[in-house]
Amino acid sequence: MGTPLKPATTAVHAGLSEPRPGEPVLNPLVPATSYYADPDVIGFSASDLGDDAPHFYARWSHPSAAALEQRLARLDGGEAALTFASGMAAVSGLVLHKLQAGDHFIVSNVCYAGVAEFARTLPKYGIAVTAVDASDLVSVANAFRPETKLVHIETPANPILRLADIAAIAQLAHAAGAELSVDSTMATPIATKPLELGADFVVHSLTKYACGHGDALGGAVIGRRGAIEALRRDALIHLGAVLNPFAAWLISRGLETLPQRMAAHADNARAISTWLETAPGVTRVIYPGLPSHPQHELAQRQMKNFSGMLSFVINDGEAVARRLARKLKLVAYAVSLGKTRSLIFHIPTDDLLRTSFALEGRDAEAYRAWAGDGVFRLSAGIEDAGDIIADLEQALAP
Ligand SMILES: *Cc1c(COP(=O)(O)O)cnc(C)c1O
Repeated sequence: MGTPLKPATTAVHAGLSEPRPGEPVLNPLVPATSYYADPDVIGFSASDLGDDAPHFYARWSHPSAAALEQRLARLDGGEAALTFASGMAAVSGLVLHKLQAGDHFIVSNVCYAGVAEFARTLPKYGIAVTAVDASDLVSVANAFRPETKLVHIETPANPILRLADIAAIAQLAHAAGAELSVDSTMATPIATKPLELGADFVVHSLTKYACGHGDALGGAVIGRRGAIEALRRDALIHLGAVLNPFAAWLISRGLETLPQRMAAHADNARAISTWLETAPGVTRVIYPGLPSHPQHELAQRQMKNFSGMLSFVINDGEAVARRLARKLKLVAYAVSLGKTRSLIFHIPTDDLLRTSFALEGRDAEAYRAWAGDGVFRLSAGIEDAGDIIADLEQALAP
């Protein structure tokens, strides 16, 4: 076909096997751990693994992951994708593969808490780490050293939905001889394609919007073919955090409706955030799709869909959190995000600054300017927006 397929078609068709009479119309789930081997084609060591080698052992590759990887690569406009057992396995695998003792790593100082905490373990391997405010290009530019090899950002960043300018940071990284990895879990390929903006790697927690139904953990890295195959040999096979076939199969199925779900998530997040801006006691609403978001201009430039995540600050947040956990009927008071059902969770600023982010001085003040004493992070589901707003209204009422 001449014109490239649109995302809604790619999401359903990419990765399907060739049609053959009598074969199933969808990719079957294959739980096998080993595959018939041809001694002329494959060696026993991961270092002998050719890019087009057939399946051999499920920790190296398996059909359910391979089909999902094709779909993910196509959706993000990358040459190849590699799946992992979780988003954390994808991030840690990439970072440990790319960096060695003596290297320097720049990481966004607001990001998924697990990633922030993992980054602080890297000095024990001899890797120097600088955490920067990735929304401030001057801070990013000043963080580079001759040994900087990798920059890792997240946009929008958990939990305050602060954005980072991917194209500008890619330029800074490349000028310094470093590579850029972008955690695009919240944006999804429906909103943003970081590779087209110059990033070298895109990372997703597939657990969130990609799967979409809250029933499988997974992660992925997407990038150039050679880089992804090296990542497979070094990080997937040797660290071993392979995606299990059933999770791969569930996530492939979830991806089929990603474009439609993202449209619904974004519509609901806009309706809920617009309502919250007028709700009693709410002092701040943070949603990239609202003109009040401090980086709304960047959001319009970089995101085709503003996603379903919003945060808000309300007076006496800790007491409100207890009330919401008790009174909400539709919205679940629970962690995670990107699921069909709406979820809400309170994240107290003092705890987060002290533990996960370890921010001090100016960086702590910059965070507090967004989050006050704490934010409620709300993952808008795909239910009826009016029903969700009514549930929030009854639970917020004192
Ligand atoms: C959840 C999440 C992760 C970690 O993914 P898991 O699948 O839970 O390991 C990483 N980055 C972001 C932005 C996330 O939301």
